[in-house]
Amino acid sequence: MTTLGTATAAPGEVATGRLDVGETRDGSTVGLPVAVVNGSADGDTLYVQAVSDGDELNGVGVISRVVPQLAPEELSGTVLFVGIVNYHAYQVGEHRNPIDDRKLNRTYPGDRNGTSSERISHATFQAARESDLILDLHQGSTSRMIDETRVRCGSRHRLHRECLRLAKTFDCGYILDQKGPDGQLARAGPDEGIPTIDPELGGSVGWDETSIRRGVDGVFNVLRGYGFLEGSVDPGRQVRAKGFDQYGSPNGGLVHFEKDLGDEVSIGDTLFRITDPFGTVKARVTADSSGVFWRTRRLPQVATGEYVCSVGTDIDSY
Ligand SMILES: [Zn+2]
Repeated sequence: MTTLGTATAAPGEVATGRLDVGETRDGSTVGLPVAVVNGSADGDTLYVQAVSDGDELNGVGVISRVVPQLAPEELSGTVLFVGIVNYHAYQVGEHRNPIDDRKLNRTYPGDRNGTSSERISHATFQAARESDLILDLHQGSTSRMIDETRVRCGSRHRLHRECLRLAKTFDCGYILDQKGPDGQLARAGPDEGIPTIDPELGGSVGWDETSIRRGVDGVFNVLRGYGFLEGSVDPGRQVRAKGFDQYGSPNGGLVHFEKDLGDEVSIGDTLFRITDPFGTVKARVTADSSGVFWRTRRLPQVATGEYVCSVGTDIDSY
């Protein structure tokens, strides 16, 4: 039997349930929706979670398609799912947990007696840390972003190579290989000896079909590539960025991009122009480094200093 929260599945069974993480302000129980798919044959455990940031819904789009397609009689090992991690932020469609105003993915491995986000991190990490592989499904929030996978442990970490292998197997095509901030699951997992990646499935308001399909393919690639399912994977070369340059606006006005997501960028290329409402150009911003045009803001209006776009730099492939 494998149990996650109230979901208990014997070999060959699927169960759904709730993982208790406390109570709401009216005293109702908060239970994160969880699922256990227990394969008929023995094997490793894969942990998958989504909506650690409350406005990032592509990941739960992926899970809602993967679970019905996963036949336990074809599975060796177990897959654990937490469908919605940041319960409170999800309820109100916000990025951060409104109960403690924290970004949940800065609070791993969590604290049993901590703030709301720390307790949720703690509860989910208890399941994740018993697994052999971890997928933490994210996206570039509501901005516009390419589909990519992040390896956050840093190049000196003993699990760096294993995390890179997992990212390649997931096969988004792009990888950001850069040590992440403290408190990310993609750092806490490797610290426990578990290869962990943070697939960033595009960026959207609500669901994006292309990114969700890529995420579904990625989960099945991992299941086949690591022996949970029969079959093999033949991932393509991954374009890897080891740096990430962010560009802000020098003026207030309207942004006009001269690059599209995924475009190659050379030093000196114009990334965007800022105009006034009548088309008069106020500024033209050029690239300081070469790389790949990676992410942009969604709305065209900006104030001085406001975020406009990012370029992945130090590019190679593997
Ligand atoms: Zn996120």
